[in-house]
Order: sequence, then structure tokens, then C-alpha cells
Amino acid sequence: MTPREAEIKEVGRRAGGRVVGIAAAAAFESRVPEGYRPGDILPGARSVVVAGGDGPTAGAWRCPDHRVMEITGYDLRENVAIHVMCDHIEREWRHYAIQAPSLSVHGHEPPMSMMLAAELAGLGTRSLAAHIILNPEYGLLYYAALITTAELAPDPPLETPACPHPGCAAMYRRIGTTPCLRVCPACLAGRVGDDGTIAESTYNRERCHSRAQTYGIGSFQKALLAIVDEEDPGRRRTMIYGDFFTKSLQAVGFYRDSIAQCFECMRVCPVGRKYRKLE
Ligand code: SF4
Ligand code: SF4
Repeated sequence: MTPREAEIKEVGRRAGGRVVGIAAAAAFESRVPEGYRPGDILPGARSVVVAGGDGPTAGAWRCPDHRVMEITGYDLRENVAIHVMCDHIEREWRHYAIQAPSLSVHGHEPPMSMMLAAELAGLGTRSLAAHIILNPEYGLLYYAALITTAELAPDPPLETPACPHPGCAAMYRRIGTTPCLRVCPACLAGRVGDDGTIAESTYNRERCHSRAQTYGIGSFQKALLAIVDEEDPGRRRTMIYGDFFTKSLQAVGFYRDSIAQCFECMRVCPVGRKYRKLE
């Protein structure tokens, strides 16, 4: 790793990134269609720097009230790390840098995939649990990326997949399921091959979205439509001040739509669990 790569990773980690990796912008070319590549967002893009940040704290994972996790998510630090690294690249290196857009512009399709960025930067691999990217050391992390015209040596993608964990592969051999598949049969299905790797994996995104992101932009739109259609002023008032609309507003106001309200498949996942065990 040359000083430049080490330098930017250190800047990212100091700003809150748990892990930082680098991918070549060109690596996206063969994997995603035109319009979704780094060069479509920043002309002349050469590199993509990816930061992974922690989600819930170890304490939040222990809270007996699952709803509390939705208001204690820390999944914004990777964005801070990206902003700080962008500033560093532009001010110190005099190269262009931009945060990669990751929020959907239509449906659930973002202009650039953070999952792919994390994979290409060697930070994680897709899992049986909703295809969530698992970092082999820390498990569930949230990812953000920046695109830059600076030339940086990329990290290699991981050789060994983080999922299934050896314990999950052994469980599958024994009883034909893994912890995540068992906890959410409504959304997840999959098969572990004889070699202990994922042989098949399907994920019902629409079903998961309706369970995992109960409050957010979608619930706000749904509630708003019901409110404007309600003719009874008393009922309308109750709907506006009721919990559902209030929580939906909170979700939009504090950008909680990006934070899941169901973590059950990750709660049972052994990858990175050691970091949740404190005194
Ligand atoms: S987040 Fe919840 S609903 Fe979605 S796959 Fe995981 S356990 Fe199932
Ligand atoms: S519990 Fe975690 S490691 Fe095990 S199969 Fe599911 S996602 Fe993979």
C-alpha cells in the first residue's frame, strides 16, 4: 500500500469509518449498466473509496425493546467519514471527489450500488440474510462511498466469503437451515453447498421492506393519502396526531428511512458477534 492509500484510509478511519477500502472505478464497468457507474456520476472517475460504519451499538443490540434500535442506529458515521475524505482529497490532493449517491431515485434503485462498491473494495461479501454485505471481521456494517479522479491502488475483493460462517455451514449440514434462514422464512430462502459456500440464495425484498422499514417515506405517503381522503374532521385529527403518522414524520425528519426496524436476521448472525459482547 503506497502512502496515498494508507493516508486516505487513516483519514477515513479517524473520521468514524470502522473499515475503509478502495475499488477501481473501472471495476464497475462489466458489472453494472451504463448510467450506474462511477464515471457517469463523476466524469474522469478513477477510484472509489468505500467506508463501512457500525450500525447499532453493542448496547443497542441488547435492548429488550426492539423498537428502540430504530432510534439508536449509528449508521451515519460512514457518511461522515466519506465527507471528511472528500475534503481531504480535494483540499490536499487537488483532485475531484464526490460522495457516491446511494439513495433510491426511483423504486428501490440507487444510482450506485453501495453493496457492489463494498464487495469490489474488499470489505465484505453478500450473505444469505437479505444479501446484506457481511464484513468477515465486524459482520453487519453500513456502507458509503466516494468517487474521485485520484488514481489509487485498489484492494482485492475478498477471497473467502464471510457467509456462511463455519458454524452456519455446520448447522446447515445438520438440519438443513442456518440461523438467518430459520428466523425469517417469509423473506429468505437459500442453500449451502457441499463445499460450505452459498449455492443458492433468494430474498423477497418487498416483503422485507414492509417489515423492516415500517416507518419512512413509504409510510408517510400511505398515511398522508389516508388523511387527505378522510372526510370526518375528528378522525382526520386523530390520524394526524396518532402514533403512525407521528413516527412516519419522525422517520422522514430524521432520515430514519435508511435505518431498518427489523434486525432479526442479523441478530442471530455469528459474524462479528464478538464485538457485541461487552461487560
Ligand atoms: S430484516 Fe427482518 S424482515 Fe428483512 S430479511 Fe431480515 S429478518 Fe427478515
Ligand atoms: S447467520 Fe449470518 S453467516 Fe450465518 S448464514 Fe446467515 S448471514 Fe450467513
